[in-house]
Formats: sequence, structure tokens, C-alpha cells
Amino acid sequence: MGKTILITGASSGIGKATTKKFQAKGWNVIATMRSPEKENELTSLDNVLVTKLDVQDLTSITNAIEEGIDTFGKIDVVLNNAGYGILGTFESVARENITRQFDVNVLGLFDVTRAVLPHFRKNKDGMFINISSVGGKTTFPMMQLYHATKFAVEGFSESLQYELGPIGVKVKIVEPGSIKTDFSGRSMDFQHNNELTEYNEFASGVMTTFEQLMSADNRNSPELVADVIYNAATDGTSTLRYIAGQDAEHLLEARRTMNDAEFLSMMKTNLNIK
Ligand code: NAP
Repeated sequence: MGKTILITGASSGIGKATTKKFQAKGWNVIATMRSPEKENELTSLDNVLVTKLDVQDLTSITNAIEEGIDTFGKIDVVLNNAGYGILGTFESVARENITRQFDVNVLGLFDVTRAVLPHFRKNKDGMFINISSVGGKTTFPMMQLYHATKFAVEGFSESLQYELGPIGVKVKIVEPGSIKTDFSGRSMDFQHNNELTEYNEFASGVMTTFEQLMSADNRNSPELVADVIYNAATDGTSTLRYIAGQDAEHLLEARRTMNDAEFLSMMKTNLNIK
């Protein structure tokens, strides 16, 4: 029997492209999503189990893992991909929205990881591939909460690999740049309260720049990220980080080589903000 990957957030974008990539390469895929009843493309593929998993619902996590193991015998790789972003001024965001942002992007990833770990420990084998972002190392204005979640994913993953390495389990991080998916539409939660007038000029400037960036034709495809994920899963190394996209390569190189003042000044110039 071939290898098996479990993917969260497989309904669209990177998760869907990765499902198709691994399936085409002969893997079994447990393609999990919040609303599997709406999926009609992945359900027609051989060796793909489309099933429910909402990272905010522990029972759905354990059920999906059990069903996946029952169907394919074993899980070899988990892709923690589900996520979305709040774009807004921090003061405008209600506490419940902050909680949800961390629940999905961080605690949800922790819960999926904890639920699979007994299986990986028993097998003395397994791999977690955690989707961070170029925004796990660098920042864009008005995305402070999203960045906080992705910085958390980076720190969590890097530390976790110390304890899992000795028991045969690998942890990898994928850092995509700007990718053409539903992320900037359906998965973007815009939050700015215009009554906080001191921010209005800044917020509208950032929004204009953001819209230009998100409509740029040269954004990377989710298939490019799927290729990077496939390489991470199969290259046989213990490499921790994989960058997906030339824009991400350039930005992360700038972050590595510039000091804070130089980097922030470059960002403000490029983003046309004071
Ligand atoms: P996307 O097409 O909008 O996909 C987001 C996925 O997350 C959807 O399948 C969505 O499911 C799922 N999701 C949201 N909340 C969930 C929950 N509570 N439980 C389970 N699934 C949930 O966007 P994408 O670009 O592929 O995003 C995938 C990952 O890539 C995210 O972690 C994102 O932060 C990261 N990323 C994206 C970019 C980019 O530019 N696109 C760049 C760097 C990193 P529903 O269909 O149910 O809403």
C-alpha cells in the first residue's frame, strides 16, 4: 500500500492543489475540510478520502484521523494547512475575532498535531509539514494578528523538531509568498472601525496597496506550493524550512541580510506608507 498524507483545509487553494499533486504521485490522501458535502471534484479521485475536519472541533479531528487510518492503514505525513487572516487595525478587532484567529491558525494546528502524535510515536515514523508563510518571518502592516499566529507556528515547529527527531518523527515548515488562492478574498477577514479616525488615512493607504498586491498577475500558483510540499515530504532530508515562491525568497533574503531599521524602511518605501 502506498504512503498516506492527511491534509487540513483541502477544500481550496494550497490544500486542494496539494491533494491533487500527491494523488497524482500515487499517494493516498485524506483530504479533510469543514464542509465535505460541498466537494465534488476531489471525491471523484481514486485513493482520496474526502472527510470532515474542522480544526476548531476536536471530535471532528479524532474522527477524521481514525477514519483515515481505517481506510488506508497508516498516516505518514500530516499537512497542517488550514488557516485564514485578519487584515485590520488592531484596536478595531474584537476579542472574539482574535480568539478565532489563534484558534484556527495555532490551536487548531496544535490539536491536529496532538491527535496524530500517538500514531506517529507507535510507528516511530511520521512527518508534520506546517504551512507558515513569508509572514512567519516578516510583517505586512495591519496583519499583526495573522503574523502573530504564523510566528507562533514557526517557533512551535522549530522547537518541536528537537523532541520528535529522536523518535523518528520529522517536522517541516513551508513558507509561501503571495499565492493566487481564496486567501485574499474568502479567507481574509477585514476589520477596521472608521470611527477610530486617527487610523483612517493609514488604513485606506494600506488597503489600496494590499489590493494592488493581491490582484497582481505575477502571484505564484498553489501548484507551485504543492510542488514544494511534495519535495519536503519526499526529499529524504531533515531540512526544516522550505520557501515557496521567488517573492518569498527575495523578502526573506532581505530580512536575513538587513538590520531592523533598514528592513522596515525598505518595507515602508515599497508599500508607500510613512
Ligand atoms: P484558501 O484557498 O482560502 O484556503 C484556506 C483553507 O483553510 C480552506 O480550505 C478553508 O476551508 C480552511 N479553513 C479555514 N478555517 C478552517 C477551520 N476552522 N477548519 C478547517 N479548515 C479551515 O487559502 P490558501 O492560500 O490555500 O491558505 C492555506 C494556507 O496557506 C493558510 O494557512 C494560509 O495562511 C497559508 N498561506 C497563504 C498564502 C497566500 O498568499 N495565499 C501565503 C502564505 C501562507 P473552508 O473552505 O471550509 O473555508
